[in-house]
Parts: sequence; structure tokens; C-alpha cells
Amino acid sequence: MKDIVVLGAGYAGLKTVVELQKKLQGQVNITLVNLNSYHYETTSLHEVAAGNVPADKITFPIKDVINPQTTKLIIDRVVSVDPDKKTVQLAKHDPLTYDYCVLALGFVSETFGIKGAKENALPMTTVDQAKQIDQHIRNQMASYRSQADPKKLQIIICGGGFTGIELAGALADARPRYADLAGIQPNQVQISVVDASKRLLPMFNDQLAAYGLDIVQKLGIKIISEALIQEIQPNSVLYKKTGAADDAPLNKLDGNTIIWTTGVSGSPIVGQSGLPEKRGRVMASPHLTAPDHDDLYVAGDVAAVMPAGGKRPYPTTAQIALSMANYIAEDIKARTNGNQRPDAYQYHSMGTVASVGNTRAFGVAGGHAFKAYSASVLKKMIMNHSLLEIGGFKEFFKKGRFDLYH
Ligand SMILES: Cc1cc2nc3c(=O)[nH]c(=O)nc-3n(C[C@H](O)[C@H](O)[C@H](O)COP(=O)(O)OP(=O)(O)OC[C@H]3O[C@@H](n4cnc5c(N)ncnc54)[C@H](O)[C@@H]3O)c2cc1C
Repeated sequence: MKDIVVLGAGYAGLKTVVELQKKLQGQVNITLVNLNSYHYETTSLHEVAAGNVPADKITFPIKDVINPQTTKLIIDRVVSVDPDKKTVQLAKHDPLTYDYCVLALGFVSETFGIKGAKENALPMTTVDQAKQIDQHIRNQMASYRSQADPKKLQIIICGGGFTGIELAGALADARPRYADLAGIQPNQVQISVVDASKRLLPMFNDQLAAYGLDIVQKLGIKIISEALIQEIQPNSVLYKKTGAADDAPLNKLDGNTIIWTTGVSGSPIVGQSGLPEKRGRVMASPHLTAPDHDDLYVAGDVAAVMPAGGKRPYPTTAQIALSMANYIAEDIKARTNGNQRPDAYQYHSMGTVASVGNTRAFGVAGGHAFKAYSASVLKKMIMNHSLLEIGGFKEFFKKGRFDLYH
């Protein structure tokens, strides 16, 4: 029997296992390796960071979707892959050997080498980090009662991309809770988003981006655009406005909570495994394998896939991660059964919907623009759909978003 090793139980990895279990039950041995015993919905981390939903709402035990007759689950840290020897090094277990390996280790926060960002800003790429942000903000608010330092009420988000804007909306929803803790009015909690671009939300057309930013600004969130972050100091962001003279003094924004959402790169394990990469991403072959290593698949945020005739790879999203997983399972099935492999991987985006808190959203799906209530319902349906695809009905009914009437 072929040995298939899947690294990472996020959208790409766990979906691959779920599909392989259906397609090749009893025909292959699958080993799944993941850092934690739970799967988490990365797309909802900002809600945990804002304290609007508990962490267990966006997680479920991996064993719930594992068929132990086909799949062995190892909870450990992947250290590296040796694509020539077809082995995987783990931190605490013996090395694994494979016939096919699916590398799906996701992403890490990218600081672009900005001074002080690692030390003085809070990243938001894992459940633990999201919980730390929530705890940090609550501590700041509670301590404001005894020490009325206005910096404790200032929350600064570095990076106004999709993640930064969704986080800002979730934090705005949390203001009344923060105000109770601090003994102040909700509007005294200041939320600012600092971003280098002139035009935020480039994934949407001008009209929709303007609509989204209007919602954000009506919530009293301050957007500081064309601000090139130069340094993060303890409790301050130093930035330069686009076009400012080289010797112009830097602008300084003070706040005791600084959250880093400027961007992500693929897992560092990609580079540590000697694979050709750019910011932790491997340019995938037409069958989503690594160059010169057709038995090593790359999936999700560690993979770069170029649209036909395009110049930039598709943006990394949960949606494309799930689609890659479906393709990889189909490709492995064909190879295992000695059948012709499927045609080259192609991706068809269904659209993008951004939430601004629990009841506001905007986006595009199926070529149509959605705003206000309909967009918010659509966003929850999209989240429910991916939960159903990976977790099945059990997790869907337990953890799905059914608060559609608001
Ligand atoms: C706040 C936020 C909001 C987002 N919103 C959206 C959205 O609305 N729509 C959308 O499509 N996309 C969204 N994204 C992007 C999306 O979440 C990612 O593209 C997606 O999670 C990538 O899936 P993945 O399987 O590659 O990685 P992940 O889902 O991150 O899974 C990687 C897995 O690998 C494990 N792992 C990592 N390193 C190791 C190691 N060394 N050893 C063992 N295990 C390891 C991790 O614990 C994790 O379980 C959002 C991202 C964020 C942060």
C-alpha cells in the first residue's frame, strides 16, 4: 500500500485527508501531522482576537474527521522535508517516509524586516496569538480604571488589507465590552488602521472598496493611508507619509495595543527543506507538485499558482486552499489506481466577501456585488460551507454560524 503523508491540518491539509479517506479507503495508509490536536478556522481569528467569539467556536478536534482505519494522526512539529530521500523530520517522533507527501503548513506573520515589529507588535496567525491579543486588550482596559493613561485605550492595526479591515470591524463590535472594563464610553476606545497604500482593499473595484471603507469610517475607525511604517517601538508606531522629504521627522502614533496584519508568508519549513521558494511559497507545477519533485505536493498558503496568462499568483485564501486539496486528492487517486492523471490544476474564484463586524459586510460573489445585510448573510454562508466541507455535518451543526437574522 502507498504511504501518504500530509503535513498540516488546516484548510488544505485536512481537506486533502477528508477527500483521500473517501476516495481511497483501504487502499492507502495516510499519516497526518499537525502541531495541535485541533483544526482551526483561520478566517475567524480576528473574532477571537476581539473577544467576540470564544476560541472553541472556531476550532474542532481533528480526530472527529479522522478514520483511524486509514489515517494515523501524529501531533508534533514538522522540522523539515527531504524531497530527495522522501522523508520528513519531526521534532519528537521518528522520521516518516512517504510515497506521496502533501506539504500544507500554512503561513506565518511577515514583518518585512521592519525594526521592532517582531518585538513590539502582536501577530495574529494562530489561535494562541489571537487569544493573547484578546487578553492583552482586556488587561489594558481593566488597568485604565486605576491608571487613566489614554494610550491604554488606543488600538493600532498595522496593515489595512483584508485581515486588518476585518479585525478593525470586529474590534469596533467589542467597544461596549471594552468600555465596561475601562469604565468609559465606547467611543473613547480609539481604533486606527495604518497602511502604506493610497487605495485600500485593492481586491475590490473602486465603488465597493469605497463602500467598505465608508462602513469602517462610520464606525469611528481612523484610517491612516499612505503611511510607510518605519519602526515599531514599545507602544508607538513610527511612520512616514508617502512623498515626505527624506529628512522629514517621522510621524508617531501612540497606543498600548499594536497588532501586526501587514501580510503573511508561507511556512519557513519550505525554505528549511531546500525547496525553491519566494516568501515561503513554492511555484507549483500544473499538478501542484514542487519543481523536480513530483511526489511532493504543495497546497494552500505554501503554494503559488499562476493564473493562465497572469503575472502574479492567485492570492492565498482558504477558498483556493480547499480547491487545491480537492485536486490533489483526485491526482493521488489517479496515480494510485494507475489511471491517467487529471488535467492541469485550474482555479475558479467564487468571489471575495469581507466582514466588518458581525452584521456588516461587502464583497463580490458569482460576479455580483453584495452589500449590507445580504453580504453579511453571504459571508456566514461561505464560512458554514467551508466548515461543512472539512468538518462534515457534525461540526457544521455544532460550530456553524446560524445567527442570520439581525
Ligand atoms: C484573520 C484572517 C482572515 C482571513 N479571512 C479569509 C477569508 O475571509 N476568506 C479566505 O478565503 N481566506 C481568508 N484568510 C486566508 C486563509 O485563512 C488562509 O489562506 C488559509 O488558512 C490557508 O490555508 P492553509 O491550509 O494553507 O493553512 P492553515 O489553515 O493556516 O493551516 C496550516 C496548518 O499547519 C499547522 N502547522 C504549521 N506549522 C506546522 C509545523 N511546523 N508542524 C506541524 N504543523 C504545523 C498549523 O497549526 C495549521 O493547522 C484569512 C486569514 C486570516 C489570518
